[in-house]
Amino acid sequence: SYIAPFAMADPSKEKMRLAVLTSGGDSAGMNAVVRAVVKAAILKGCETWIVREGYEGLVRGNAEGHRHVSDKGICVSHKDVHFHEETFLHHLRYGDGELLRDGTGDHPGGRTLKGRYIVRVGWDDVRGWFAEGGTLIGTARSVAFRTREGRLTAAQNMIKEGIDALVVCGGDGSLTGADVFRSEWPKLVTELQSTGRITEEEAQKHAHLKIVGLVGSIDNDMSMTDLTIGAPTALHRICESIDNINSTAYSHSRAFVLEVMGRHCGWLALMASVSSGADFIFIPENPPDAEKWEDSMCKMIQSHRDVGKRKTIVIVAEGAVDSNLKPIRAEYVKDVLTNRLGLDSRVTTLGHTQRGGKPCAFDRIMPTLQGVEAVNALLEATPDTPSYMIGIRENKITRVPLMEAVEMTRQVSVAIAEKNFPKAMSLRDPEFSESLEGFFATSILESEPKLPHHLRMRVAIMHVGAPAGGMNAATRAAVRYCIRQGHKPFAVHNGFLGLLEDNVHQLSWLGVDNWMTRGGSELGTNRKLPDIDLGAVAAKFQQHNFHALLLIGGFEAFSALQILDVGRKYYPAFNIPLVHLPATISNNVPLTEFSLGSDTSLNALVDACDAIKQSASASRNRVFVVETQGGKCGYIATMGALAVGACMVYTPERGMNLDMLRNDVKFLKRRYGLDAKGKSEGRLVIRYSILRLVFSGYNRNSSTYVRNEIASEVYTTDVITKMFKEEEGRCLTLVLHLWAHTARWHSLSDGPCASGAPLAEVHELHRAPPRAVDQAVLPNSASASRIGGRHYDPRIDSEMGARAGDGGACGHEEPKREAFVVG
Ligand code: ATP
Repeated sequence: SYIAPFAMADPSKEKMRLAVLTSGGDSAGMNAVVRAVVKAAILKGCETWIVREGYEGLVRGNAEGHRHVSDKGICVSHKDVHFHEETFLHHLRYGDGELLRDGTGDHPGGRTLKGRYIVRVGWDDVRGWFAEGGTLIGTARSVAFRTREGRLTAAQNMIKEGIDALVVCGGDGSLTGADVFRSEWPKLVTELQSTGRITEEEAQKHAHLKIVGLVGSIDNDMSMTDLTIGAPTALHRICESIDNINSTAYSHSRAFVLEVMGRHCGWLALMASVSSGADFIFIPENPPDAEKWEDSMCKMIQSHRDVGKRKTIVIVAEGAVDSNLKPIRAEYVKDVLTNRLGLDSRVTTLGHTQRGGKPCAFDRIMPTLQGVEAVNALLEATPDTPSYMIGIRENKITRVPLMEAVEMTRQVSVAIAEKNFPKAMSLRDPEFSESLEGFFATSILESEPKLPHHLRMRVAIMHVGAPAGGMNAATRAAVRYCIRQGHKPFAVHNGFLGLLEDNVHQLSWLGVDNWMTRGGSELGTNRKLPDIDLGAVAAKFQQHNFHALLLIGGFEAFSALQILDVGRKYYPAFNIPLVHLPATISNNVPLTEFSLGSDTSLNALVDACDAIKQSASASRNRVFVVETQGGKCGYIATMGALAVGACMVYTPERGMNLDMLRNDVKFLKRRYGLDAKGKSEGRLVIRYSILRLVFSGYNRNSSTYVRNEIASEVYTTDVITKMFKEEEGRCLTLVLHLWAHTARWHSLSDGPCASGAPLAEVHELHRAPPRAVDQAVLPNSASASRIGGRHYDPRIDSEMGARAGDGGACGHEEPKREAFVVG
């Protein structure tokens, strides 16, 4: 956003002419792809086109007389920035696409997209596309492109427009089409030349096609990438729907059977089940036994009802089958629940609501990063390099050979068709089976715990630091997992202070049932560390006979763990498994890429900024300075800036100085100077009045800065505000919008978002190997302070150590285990 409008292409180099299209089923985030590709390509000195209606638009091309639109004045080139007389967005929103289909009417402004499918676009054409769901440039399933004749025409249309590189965003079908097109390209060019449809010069210039694919699919069904564009947003939609259903299900004590999308892939169903705490799940990769799934489902749901659960949620993937590949329909599941268990059951098919709505933060950030990488891949492509698919692996943007990924994806369907379900599961990401295991661990209520008596522990769970979305979901998962294994989970309320006040109680399987959706901290939390009185804390560990401690929190929890770890030298009561599960909106805990709550916080920021942008439409030339939380970490500010399309971001890591601010002010003045050029020609005024009436939310002349709360102690938000105000020249009216507590408020009041609580960390508790007690140094009991009438008693530790060393038979005598830290 920052540099690109002024980027200059190297004039000595031939410009790459690049087109981007969206194909197959639409998904949230496709607009962010188009935006990123267009902007990144302009930045790198390319010329950019969009192709409307997917491959169909490539086949239809531009009607005679509409070619080379950039030469006909639709695009006004201002250096490398192209401002349209009538913005492209404007055309689309006025429904020119519809006019085009039924062949009637024309746009009142006189310029329409009629007859034009391959349209030259510039920087500002894609401005503000982040917040739009679906795909603004249209998508289609093109029968014509499946034929060779269709692809021949598509090649001709591209060559006539001078396009030599293509970015395709779609599912596996679209990416297959891209690969077919590229491999056929040389022959298509030869044929076009031999039949006189293109000139020899054109044939030579376009001898090779460069193609790159991005995976836009809500199903997350593509192999060799961890996530597909649109899947996170679809999951958000499903979770929102389930949250709504939960309350009515609870009120009437009903059972709801929800059908979610996923013809060949159960990712949405699985993640929705984990995120929403469903009771039972049907996915194609792990089908239930055809002979007895009705029995096992009823048994499991009855066991939940027996402990007092009032609501039942069963999630069925669209493509769910049994082990004989017989489809499992939601309607049938409902009948089984009604007839066998006597439950008042309903079916809800979420359908296309899952595709709709504006993209979540991750579906803005990931497509942006992938779009930039796609342009890089095209610029580096040679006739010998394979066509790449841009994916994401372990949070890094990757390039993988497109056909390899498509082929691996196909193998999943083949494995399911051959009833080789273990293979189908193994072909999915490792995360898939881990999530399934996690779902079982938190939803199955065992009649008999898994572990023998002598391995069962009393596990303390404590929240430390500030609240963050996902803390309760993680606690729920830990509690359920503990109970399943045979451990006893204890809530320590209000952190270490609560422990010293004996604010401890045992948690039950049902008691945490609804915690998935609750924001904040159900246990209560504060920033106090155990060094307020380490001896007293150790005494409380003894008193409550804790054998393990799970700390959920941010940097304070991390520090608390370090203090306890050091304290082991003096207090063997701490020689138990100690685990930290990072949860903080700042995402500043070392050694982990994500902390719980940071995703929810980003989404809260995105919502707030979307609203701010809408308010910008009320008046022009506003600069918004948005202050985020994040302490000494610029994570929220940086990722937030990426997700909302801010023009600048100030973070503590980069710091701030006067030169930086001066340059930023200069930048803004130049930027608005470009806008004013159009305005002085009497164009923008009309558009603004129309846009403001019809599309509140789009305003070219508003900019957003995102600033971290302590980016600088000198250049505070207030100082920045005043500096910009001082620059009255180009109407830089500053509207200071302090956002400081929105994220925190959201994480307190809203439920966590879909990417709630990973279960892997919780599993670590169980993996601690038993170890003999380290009896090395015991502290002087006099140094232990007296809290609640109780001293730390070194004899208890010695005694326990002796018993553990003896291999005694008491259920709790093996609490001394190798200490380790997660996070
Ligand atoms: P979704 O996952 O949402 O279904 P998709 O990209 O897999 O998306 P498809 O309908 O399979 O959706 O493919 C989209 C378009 O890609 C098709 O309409 C067709 O134009 C083109 N396409 C698919 N497969 C091929 C192929 N083998 N050869 C040429 N074109 C293809």
